[in-house]
Amino acid sequence: MSHEGIRLVSEEEARRADAPELPRDAVTPAKVRVQQTSGEGLEIDWKDGHRSRWGFVWLRNACPCATCHEEREAAGRAAGEAKAKAAGLLPMYVAPARPESASPVGNYAISFKWNDGHSTGIYSWDYLRRHCGCTECQVK
Ligand SMILES: [Zn+2]
Ligand SMILES: [Zn+2]
Repeated sequence: MSHEGIRLVSEEEARRADAPELPRDAVTPAKVRVQQTSGEGLEIDWKDGHRSRWGFVWLRNACPCATCHEEREAAGRAAGEAKAKAAGLLPMYVAPARPESASPVGNYAISFKWNDGHSTGIYSWDYLRRHCGCTECQVK
């Protein structure tokens, strides 16, 4: 990891500059589990006691890198929303997204090398917590 110490501000961060800041404990993971073998997803226990889970397919579709972000904006898709299937084409089997590896980025994020070769997305704790998919957070 050669970028340690360099803090890049993503578009995501710039865009929500006016969003209220989350409490420190809400964006500090106590435990991070990448359920790579079972293929289930990512699970984080936060310091404030909350537990978040995301499926790998959701995470792949929520990739925060500039390319994926722009692609979603153009198509009007929300983070995590799957691409619409092209009409008229025979459905092709595409292996569900799974990370080949996961690595920490500094102490503020995690990145994945996906089975489709993509690896430029940096998932900050803040980004993940703001997109927590648990029922409690969805209700708000
Ligand atoms: Zn991406
Ligand atoms: Zn939640």
